Amino acid sequence: MTSPMFGKVALVGIGLIGSSMAHAMRRAGLAGHIAGYARREETLDAARACGFADSLHSDVREAVRDADLVVLATPVGSFGELAQSFAPALKQGAIVSDVGSVKSAVVRDVGPHIPQGVHFIPAHPIAGTEQSGPESGFAELFDGRWCILTPPPGTDEGAVATLRAFWEACGSNVDIMDPKHHDLVLAITSHVPHLIAYNIVGTADDLEAVTEGEVIKYSAGGFRDFTRIAASDPTMWRDVFLNNRDAVLEVLGRFSEDLSALQRAIRWGDGDALFNLFTRTRAIRRGIVDAGQDSAVPNFGRNPKLPPKP
Ligand code: NAP
Repeated sequence: MTSPMFGKVALVGIGLIGSSMAHAMRRAGLAGHIAGYARREETLDAARACGFADSLHSDVREAVRDADLVVLATPVGSFGELAQSFAPALKQGAIVSDVGSVKSAVVRDVGPHIPQGVHFIPAHPIAGTEQSGPESGFAELFDGRWCILTPPPGTDEGAVATLRAFWEACGSNVDIMDPKHHDLVLAITSHVPHLIAYNIVGTADDLEAVTEGEVIKYSAGGFRDFTRIAASDPTMWRDVFLNNRDAVLEVLGRFSEDLSALQRAIRWGDGDALFNLFTRTRAIRRGIVDAGQDSAVPNFGRNPKLPPKP
Protein backbone atom coordinates (compact mmCIF):
# COMPACT_ATOMS: atom_id res chain seq x y z
CA MET A 1 0.00 0.00 0.00
CA THR A 2 1.37 3.47 -0.88
CA SER A 3 1.67 6.01 1.94
CA PRO A 4 -0.66 9.04 1.91
CA MET A 5 0.54 12.41 0.61
CA PHE A 6 0.41 13.90 4.15
CA GLY A 7 0.84 12.11 7.48
CA LYS A 8 -1.51 14.56 9.22
CA VAL A 9 -3.77 17.31 7.86
CA ALA A 10 -5.36 19.86 10.22
CA LEU A 11 -8.57 21.54 9.08
CA VAL A 12 -8.99 24.77 11.02
CA GLY A 13 -12.72 25.13 10.35
CA ILE A 14 -14.96 22.21 9.47
CA GLY A 15 -17.94 23.78 7.72
CA LEU A 16 -18.92 23.28 4.08
CA ILE A 17 -15.41 23.66 2.69
CA GLY A 18 -13.44 22.01 5.53
CA SER A 19 -15.72 18.98 5.68
CA SER A 20 -15.79 18.66 1.89
CA MET A 21 -11.98 18.64 1.93
CA ALA A 22 -12.04 15.86 4.53
CA HIS A 23 -14.42 13.79 2.38
CA ALA A 24 -12.31 14.42 -0.75
CA MET A 25 -9.10 13.50 1.14
CA ARG A 26 -10.66 10.26 2.35
CA ARG A 27 -11.87 9.43 -1.15
CA ALA A 28 -8.31 9.81 -2.52
CA GLY A 29 -6.46 8.51 0.57
CA LEU A 30 -4.46 11.74 0.94
CA ALA A 31 -4.04 11.92 4.73
CA GLY A 32 -2.97 9.45 7.41
CA HIS A 33 -4.84 11.49 10.01
CA ILE A 34 -7.42 14.27 9.60
CA ALA A 35 -7.76 16.64 12.56
CA GLY A 36 -10.59 19.19 12.73
CA TYR A 37 -10.95 22.37 14.76
CA ALA A 38 -14.06 24.42 15.61
CA ARG A 39 -14.93 26.74 18.49
CA ARG A 40 -18.35 25.38 19.37
CA GLU A 41 -19.20 22.03 20.90
CA GLU A 42 -22.27 21.69 18.64
CA THR A 43 -20.04 22.01 15.53
CA LEU A 44 -17.65 19.38 16.91
CA ASP A 45 -20.61 17.08 17.73
CA ALA A 46 -22.03 17.48 14.23
CA ALA A 47 -18.61 16.67 12.72
CA ARG A 48 -18.26 13.65 15.01
CA ALA A 49 -21.62 12.35 13.78
CA CYS A 50 -20.48 12.76 10.14
CA GLY A 51 -17.29 10.79 10.86
CA PHE A 52 -15.01 12.59 8.39
CA ALA A 53 -12.27 13.44 10.97
CA ASP A 54 -9.93 11.22 12.99
CA SER A 55 -9.70 13.75 15.83
CA LEU A 56 -11.68 16.88 16.73
CA HIS A 57 -10.44 19.79 18.83
CA SER A 58 -11.63 23.03 20.36
CA ASP A 59 -7.97 23.97 20.98
CA VAL A 60 -6.45 25.06 17.69
CA ARG A 61 -2.86 24.38 18.82
CA GLU A 62 -3.80 20.76 19.58
CA ALA A 63 -5.37 20.45 16.13
CA VAL A 64 -2.29 21.67 14.23
CA ARG A 65 0.35 19.88 16.36
CA ASP A 66 2.50 17.60 14.12
CA ALA A 67 0.38 18.42 11.06
CA ASP A 68 2.12 18.41 7.66
CA LEU A 69 -0.64 20.50 6.11
CA VAL A 70 -2.74 23.08 7.98
CA VAL A 71 -5.70 24.63 6.17
CA LEU A 72 -7.60 27.67 7.44
CA ALA A 73 -11.27 27.16 6.54
CA THR A 74 -13.11 29.60 8.82
CA PRO A 75 -14.48 33.04 7.81
CA VAL A 76 -11.65 35.20 6.40
CA GLY A 77 -11.91 37.80 9.19
CA SER A 78 -10.83 35.18 11.76
CA PHE A 79 -7.66 34.00 9.95
CA GLY A 80 -5.14 36.45 11.48
CA GLU A 81 -6.04 35.70 15.10
CA LEU A 82 -6.15 31.94 14.48
CA ALA A 83 -2.77 31.96 12.72
CA GLN A 84 -1.26 33.93 15.58
CA SER A 85 -2.54 31.44 18.11
CA PHE A 86 -1.51 28.23 16.29
CA ALA A 87 1.86 29.51 14.94
CA PRO A 88 3.95 28.32 17.95
CA ALA A 89 2.64 24.74 17.52
CA LEU A 90 3.51 24.43 13.80
CA LYS A 91 5.87 21.68 12.71
CA GLN A 92 9.01 22.66 10.74
CA GLY A 93 8.53 21.97 7.03
CA ALA A 94 4.70 22.06 7.29
CA ILE A 95 2.56 23.82 4.68
CA VAL A 96 0.04 26.40 5.93
CA SER A 97 -2.71 27.16 3.45
CA ASP A 98 -6.31 28.39 3.47
CA VAL A 99 -9.48 28.34 1.38
CA GLY A 100 -10.50 31.98 1.86
CA SER A 101 -12.45 33.75 -0.88
CA VAL A 102 -10.05 36.74 -0.84
CA LYS A 103 -6.29 36.54 -1.08
CA SER A 104 -4.50 39.91 -0.53
CA ALA A 105 -6.02 40.26 2.94
CA VAL A 106 -4.96 36.69 3.79
CA VAL A 107 -1.36 37.44 2.79
CA ARG A 108 -1.57 40.59 4.94
CA ASP A 109 -3.20 38.96 8.00
CA VAL A 110 -1.65 35.46 8.07
CA GLY A 111 1.77 35.93 6.44
CA PRO A 112 3.42 37.79 9.35
CA HIS A 113 2.58 34.96 11.81
CA ILE A 114 4.14 32.12 9.80
CA PRO A 115 7.47 31.03 11.34
CA GLN A 116 10.70 30.46 9.38
CA GLY A 117 10.83 26.96 7.95
CA VAL A 118 7.05 26.72 7.42
CA HIS A 119 5.67 27.16 3.89
CA PHE A 120 2.77 29.58 3.48
CA ILE A 121 0.71 29.06 0.30
CA PRO A 122 -2.71 30.75 0.20
CA ALA A 123 -5.36 28.98 -1.90
CA HIS A 124 -8.97 29.42 -2.99
CA PRO A 125 -11.09 26.55 -4.31
CA ILE A 126 -13.71 28.12 -6.59
CA ALA A 127 -16.44 25.75 -5.50
CA GLY A 128 -19.28 26.06 -3.06
CA THR A 129 -22.96 25.95 -2.35
CA GLU A 130 -25.22 28.18 -0.26
CA GLN A 131 -25.16 25.57 2.55
CA SER A 132 -22.89 25.72 5.59
CA GLY A 133 -21.78 23.57 8.51
CA PRO A 134 -20.11 20.15 8.85
CA GLU A 135 -23.17 18.24 7.52
CA SER A 136 -23.18 20.14 4.23
CA GLY A 137 -19.86 18.80 2.90
CA PHE A 138 -19.45 16.20 0.16
CA ALA A 139 -16.45 14.64 -1.60
CA GLU A 140 -17.43 15.76 -5.12
CA LEU A 141 -17.57 19.50 -4.34
CA PHE A 142 -14.19 20.25 -5.97
CA ASP A 143 -14.49 17.87 -8.95
CA GLY A 144 -13.81 19.74 -12.18
CA ARG A 145 -13.67 23.11 -10.35
CA TRP A 146 -10.69 25.46 -10.28
CA CYS A 147 -8.48 26.02 -7.28
CA ILE A 148 -6.28 29.14 -7.37
CA LEU A 149 -2.97 29.16 -5.48
CA THR A 150 -1.29 32.51 -4.70
CA PRO A 151 2.19 31.62 -3.38
CA PRO A 152 4.18 34.69 -2.26
CA PRO A 153 7.37 35.38 -4.27
CA GLY A 154 10.20 33.05 -3.20
CA THR A 155 7.94 30.25 -1.94
CA ASP A 156 9.58 26.82 -2.06
CA GLU A 157 8.68 25.28 -5.43
CA GLY A 158 8.49 21.78 -4.02
CA ALA A 159 5.87 22.88 -1.48
CA VAL A 160 3.83 24.58 -4.24
CA ALA A 161 4.03 21.40 -6.35
CA THR A 162 2.85 19.34 -3.36
CA LEU A 163 -0.16 21.60 -2.74
CA ARG A 164 -0.99 21.57 -6.44
CA ALA A 165 -0.89 17.76 -6.45
CA PHE A 166 -3.10 17.75 -3.32
CA TRP A 167 -5.83 19.87 -4.94
CA GLU A 168 -5.63 17.87 -8.17
CA ALA A 169 -6.13 14.70 -6.14
CA CYS A 170 -9.19 16.37 -4.55
CA GLY A 171 -10.60 16.67 -8.09
CA SER A 172 -9.66 20.28 -8.91
CA ASN A 173 -7.85 21.99 -11.76
CA VAL A 174 -5.16 24.28 -10.39
CA ASP A 175 -4.06 27.78 -11.46
CA ILE A 176 -1.41 30.05 -9.95
CA MET A 177 -2.13 33.77 -9.66
CA ASP A 178 -1.02 36.99 -8.03
CA PRO A 179 -3.27 37.71 -4.99
CA LYS A 180 -4.30 41.17 -6.19
CA HIS A 181 -5.32 39.83 -9.58
CA HIS A 182 -7.22 36.99 -7.89
CA ASP A 183 -9.19 39.55 -5.87
CA LEU A 184 -10.17 41.53 -8.98
CA VAL A 185 -11.20 38.40 -10.91
CA LEU A 186 -13.25 37.15 -7.97
CA ALA A 187 -14.82 40.56 -7.39
CA ILE A 188 -16.43 40.37 -10.86
CA THR A 189 -17.13 36.63 -10.98
CA SER A 190 -18.34 36.08 -7.41
CA HIS A 191 -18.33 38.96 -4.95
CA VAL A 192 -20.29 41.60 -6.87
CA PRO A 193 -22.81 38.99 -8.16
CA HIS A 194 -23.44 38.05 -4.53
CA LEU A 195 -23.87 41.71 -3.59
CA ILE A 196 -26.36 42.18 -6.42
CA ALA A 197 -28.30 39.11 -5.25
CA TYR A 198 -28.34 40.33 -1.64
CA ASN A 199 -29.50 43.73 -2.87
CA ILE A 200 -32.30 42.57 -5.21
CA VAL A 201 -33.71 40.19 -2.60
CA GLY A 202 -33.56 42.98 -0.01
CA THR A 203 -35.28 45.37 -2.42
CA ALA A 204 -38.07 42.88 -3.11
CA ASP A 205 -38.51 42.39 0.62
CA ASP A 206 -38.86 46.16 1.09
CA LEU A 207 -41.23 46.73 -1.84
CA GLU A 208 -44.53 47.38 -0.14
CA ALA A 209 -46.63 47.38 -3.33
CA VAL A 210 -45.78 43.68 -3.88
CA THR A 211 -46.68 41.30 -1.09
CA GLU A 212 -44.30 38.63 0.19
CA GLY A 213 -46.79 35.98 -0.99
CA GLU A 214 -46.51 37.29 -4.55
CA VAL A 215 -42.71 37.38 -4.41
CA ILE A 216 -42.64 33.69 -3.49
CA LYS A 217 -45.51 32.65 -5.78
CA TYR A 218 -44.01 34.23 -8.89
CA SER A 219 -40.34 33.69 -7.99
CA ALA A 220 -39.64 31.45 -11.01
CA GLY A 221 -39.55 34.66 -13.08
CA GLY A 222 -35.85 35.07 -12.19
CA PHE A 223 -36.00 36.09 -8.53
CA ARG A 224 -35.66 32.48 -7.37
CA ASP A 225 -32.12 32.14 -8.72
CA PHE A 226 -31.08 35.30 -6.86
CA THR A 227 -32.55 33.96 -3.59
CA ARG A 228 -30.30 30.91 -3.79
CA ILE A 229 -27.20 33.12 -3.86
CA ALA A 230 -28.65 35.50 -1.27
CA ALA A 231 -29.09 32.56 1.14
CA SER A 232 -25.29 32.25 1.46
CA ASP A 233 -23.69 32.46 4.89
CA PRO A 234 -23.91 36.04 6.30
CA THR A 235 -20.67 35.86 8.33
CA MET A 236 -18.60 34.52 5.46
CA TRP A 237 -19.91 37.15 3.04
CA ARG A 238 -19.60 40.05 5.47
CA ASP A 239 -15.92 39.12 5.81
CA VAL A 240 -15.47 38.82 2.02
CA PHE A 241 -16.71 42.38 1.44
CA LEU A 242 -14.75 43.84 4.35
CA ASN A 243 -11.58 42.15 3.08
CA ASN A 244 -11.88 42.76 -0.67
CA ARG A 245 -12.98 46.37 -0.43
CA ASP A 246 -10.81 47.92 -3.16
CA ALA A 247 -11.54 45.40 -5.91
CA VAL A 248 -15.26 45.24 -5.07
CA LEU A 249 -15.57 49.05 -5.14
CA GLU A 250 -13.70 49.21 -8.45
CA VAL A 251 -16.01 46.65 -10.08
CA LEU A 252 -19.11 48.26 -8.51
CA GLY A 253 -18.10 51.59 -10.07
CA ARG A 254 -18.05 49.99 -13.52
CA PHE A 255 -21.28 48.15 -12.78
CA SER A 256 -23.08 51.37 -11.80
CA GLU A 257 -21.98 53.08 -15.03
CA ASP A 258 -23.22 50.15 -17.12
CA LEU A 259 -26.50 50.08 -15.19
CA SER A 260 -27.00 53.78 -15.90
CA ALA A 261 -26.45 53.08 -19.61
CA LEU A 262 -29.14 50.38 -19.47
CA GLN A 263 -31.50 52.75 -17.64
CA ARG A 264 -30.96 55.29 -20.42
CA ALA A 265 -31.60 52.67 -23.11
CA ILE A 266 -34.91 51.74 -21.49
CA ARG A 267 -35.91 55.38 -20.99
CA TRP A 268 -35.20 56.28 -24.66
CA GLY A 269 -36.58 53.06 -26.10
CA ASP A 270 -33.19 52.00 -27.47
CA GLY A 271 -34.12 48.38 -28.23
CA ASP A 272 -30.92 47.75 -30.21
CA ALA A 273 -28.73 48.53 -27.18
CA LEU A 274 -30.76 46.12 -25.03
CA PHE A 275 -30.88 43.40 -27.69
CA ASN A 276 -27.14 43.60 -28.38
CA LEU A 277 -26.22 43.32 -24.70
CA PHE A 278 -28.60 40.41 -24.09
CA THR A 279 -27.18 38.58 -27.12
CA ARG A 280 -23.63 39.06 -25.85
CA THR A 281 -24.52 37.82 -22.34
CA ARG A 282 -26.32 34.76 -23.68
CA ALA A 283 -23.09 33.72 -25.42
CA ILE A 284 -21.22 34.01 -22.10
CA ARG A 285 -23.71 31.60 -20.48
CA ARG A 286 -23.15 29.15 -23.33
CA GLY A 287 -19.38 29.47 -22.84
CA ILE A 288 -19.70 28.57 -19.13
CA VAL A 289 -21.82 25.47 -19.88
CA ASP A 290 -19.43 24.45 -22.70
CA ALA A 291 -16.46 24.78 -20.30
CA GLY A 292 -18.14 22.31 -17.94
CA GLN A 293 -18.52 24.91 -15.17
CA ASP A 294 -22.32 24.49 -15.03
CA SER A 295 -24.99 22.29 -16.57
CA ALA A 296 -27.80 23.46 -18.80
CA VAL A 297 -30.50 21.65 -16.77
CA PRO A 298 -33.18 23.99 -15.36
CA ASN A 299 -32.06 23.69 -11.69
CA PHE A 300 -28.50 24.41 -12.91
CA GLY A 301 -27.54 20.94 -11.63
CA ARG A 302 -26.67 22.37 -8.24
CA ASN A 303 -28.27 19.81 -5.95
CA PRO A 304 -25.51 17.23 -5.39
CA LYS A 305 -27.99 14.87 -3.72
CA LEU A 306 -29.97 14.53 -6.97
CA PRO A 307 -28.69 12.13 -9.64
CA PRO A 308 -27.51 13.95 -12.77
CA LYS A 309 -30.15 14.18 -15.48
CA PRO A 310 -29.43 12.01 -18.52
P1 NAP B 1 -19.06 27.40 7.18
O1 NAP B 1 -19.72 26.22 6.57
O2 NAP B 1 -19.91 28.46 7.79
O3 NAP B 1 -18.01 26.87 8.30
C1 NAP B 1 -17.22 27.74 9.05
C2 NAP B 1 -16.37 26.96 10.03
O4 NAP B 1 -15.55 27.88 10.75
C3 NAP B 1 -17.13 26.19 11.10
O5 NAP B 1 -16.38 25.06 11.47
C4 NAP B 1 -17.21 27.18 12.27
O6 NAP B 1 -17.35 26.46 13.49
C5 NAP B 1 -15.89 27.89 12.14
N1 NAP B 1 -15.95 29.31 12.51
C6 NAP B 1 -16.90 30.19 12.26
N2 NAP B 1 -16.59 31.42 12.71
C7 NAP B 1 -15.38 31.31 13.27
C8 NAP B 1 -14.52 32.24 13.91
N3 NAP B 1 -14.82 33.53 14.04
N4 NAP B 1 -13.37 31.77 14.41
C9 NAP B 1 -13.06 30.49 14.30
N5 NAP B 1 -13.85 29.56 13.68
C10 NAP B 1 -14.99 29.96 13.18
O7 NAP B 1 -18.11 28.16 6.14
P2 NAP B 1 -17.55 27.67 4.71
O8 NAP B 1 -18.59 27.91 3.67
O9 NAP B 1 -16.94 26.33 4.85
O10 NAP B 1 -16.43 28.79 4.47
C11 NAP B 1 -15.15 28.68 5.06
C12 NAP B 1 -14.15 29.48 4.26
O11 NAP B 1 -14.16 29.02 2.91
C13 NAP B 1 -14.39 30.99 4.22
O12 NAP B 1 -13.18 31.65 4.42
C14 NAP B 1 -14.88 31.23 2.81
O13 NAP B 1 -14.49 32.51 2.33
C15 NAP B 1 -14.24 30.11 2.02
N6 NAP B 1 -14.98 29.65 0.85
C16 NAP B 1 -16.32 29.43 0.93
C17 NAP B 1 -17.01 29.00 -0.20
C18 NAP B 1 -18.50 28.76 -0.15
O14 NAP B 1 -19.16 28.75 -1.17
N7 NAP B 1 -19.08 28.54 1.02
C19 NAP B 1 -16.33 28.75 -1.40
C20 NAP B 1 -14.94 28.93 -1.43
C21 NAP B 1 -14.27 29.39 -0.31
P3 NAP B 1 -17.60 27.22 14.88
O15 NAP B 1 -18.61 28.31 14.60
O16 NAP B 1 -18.06 26.17 15.82
O17 NAP B 1 -16.26 27.76 15.25
